[in-house]
Amino acid sequence: MPQSAIAIRKVFSTDPATGKVLREFECASSEEVAAAVDHAQSAQKLWREVSFSERISVFRRFQTELHRRKDEVAAQISLEAGKPQVEALLTEVLVVLDAASFYIRYAKSFLRPERVPHGNPALKTKRGYLLREPQGVVGIISPWNYPFSIPSCDVLAALIMGNAVVLKPSELTPSAALLLRELFNTAGLPPDIFQVVIGDGLTGAALTTATIDKLIFTGSVPTGRRIATAAAERLLSIVLELGGKDPMLVLEDADLDIASSAAVWGAFMNAGQTCLSVERCYVHRKIHDRFVELCVEKTKRLRVGRGSDPESEIGPMINQQQLNIIESHVADALAHGARVLTGGKRLPELGPNFYAPTILVDVKHNVGSNVARILIEETFGPVLPIIPFDTEEEAIALANDSDFGLSASVWTRNRPRGEAIAAKIEAGTVMVNDVITCFGISEAPHGGVKSSGLGRTHGRSGLEEMVRTKYIDAELLPSIPKVWWFGYGSEFHLQMKGFLDLLFSKNWAHRARGAAKATGALFRKGRL
Ligand code: NDP
Repeated sequence: MPQSAIAIRKVFSTDPATGKVLREFECASSEEVAAAVDHAQSAQKLWREVSFSERISVFRRFQTELHRRKDEVAAQISLEAGKPQVEALLTEVLVVLDAASFYIRYAKSFLRPERVPHGNPALKTKRGYLLREPQGVVGIISPWNYPFSIPSCDVLAALIMGNAVVLKPSELTPSAALLLRELFNTAGLPPDIFQVVIGDGLTGAALTTATIDKLIFTGSVPTGRRIATAAAERLLSIVLELGGKDPMLVLEDADLDIASSAAVWGAFMNAGQTCLSVERCYVHRKIHDRFVELCVEKTKRLRVGRGSDPESEIGPMINQQQLNIIESHVADALAHGARVLTGGKRLPELGPNFYAPTILVDVKHNVGSNVARILIEETFGPVLPIIPFDTEEEAIALANDSDFGLSASVWTRNRPRGEAIAAKIEAGTVMVNDVITCFGISEAPHGGVKSSGLGRTHGRSGLEEMVRTKYIDAELLPSIPKVWWFGYGSEFHLQMKGFLDLLFSKNWAHRARGAAKATGALFRKGRL
């Protein structure tokens, strides 16, 4: 076999409902990734000079085009990622349309120079303000579970700030990224400002080490760690949006019908393959049994099937690896005393990757020194473990007993109590009486604490990641020599001690004496 044939790597876009390969792609080599970044660098020099109104026009045309092709885009996402088309429409297309509106509306004011008022009396003759400049070329590496909305929101934020973008989508969902590029091409985005490099983990690694100026990564904790290590070598600025093990706390006064519906939707939407999905549900013991009953009854009514069938509510897992993780977590939970109340098995009659939505109860936290994996590791599948608690303090402690800290939710009819508990939970976002949907608020920051990541995407905080902040300091009285310049001596030393007493002494007489001493400095002779 010729050497070049051995070197070619391929990735396959596959329908997870049937296992059928839809399209194959050659992976971009590291040379191709480097070339894409080079071209992006040249193109960005022009894009950053393009007037803001022209950038906005591109965004408006992009939005119009996406709205016009919404059904086609949703169908493509559904085909490649397995989710019901209506979910693709709501959690992918709608989210991106709204994000475009947010940037069109907000980005101009964000880029206006921002005054920085200051308090130091010694420096009162200076005016300071912030300028926000594009980073340059932003690399984006994205996962398969929201193959359109996750990269699109980051691409939009980067472009509107005047950056160029090179996107490496997941090898499992390249078509959604290609559609995104096509939409921008149609909207009139100049060539090379936004490029897509398709490939596997090696292609992603090549982007990490290419001469990009910023990297936005969304994916698993192990890959995030690898990327952070590579980025540290060259001090590349990164944002990491990683996994979660999000808890839902249902207090004794919660509306049980609403909370149980939310738990079922929050755990099983996108077949549980959502970074913000409900992975652990802690319920007050007084209402535990009734809550479980409602969840089981509602779960049994869910329709599992292909995403293209409008009646389907739960699609397939993305692939066999994901199924294997789910099965191993459920088996381990059973070994920790759990009982399966519904689900707990594959559904091979529907296709190779289907798994029944599953409710588990009685999971013991640990057996000996073995902690139940389903309570500590990200499952990323349609499994909802429900665990009772007795006190509010215990519920908060259980929620925080995790390496992750992406999001959480608190359910109660007493909103102030819910918000007080939310403040005590270690997470990037805590929702009171809702799950997941904060991702659809373009103004809200998205990101986690602890192992769930670094930095933020979305909202103002997300825009901050796409710019370099420069502080401009302008002297208003440039002809006056500064008091603190050379020409020091013992008298000046005393004057400055007096100045500090004037500002910070707690004793008024001391302050007055300090003021008298400090005044002399203004007329100090012999300054250089
Ligand atoms: P992975 O970490 O496996 O992959 C994410 C991306 O990184 C893919 O494009 C992948 O390419 C690429 N990649 C793989 N290896 C490397 C490498 N060495 N260097 C650079 N890039 C690499 O995550 P998944 O795609 O499986 O996504 C699921 C995970 O993402 C879950 O943990 C989920 O919680 C998390 N996630 C977090 C979100 C958040 O906002 N916090 C949102 C959505 C998901 P390839 O696919 O080709 O291997």
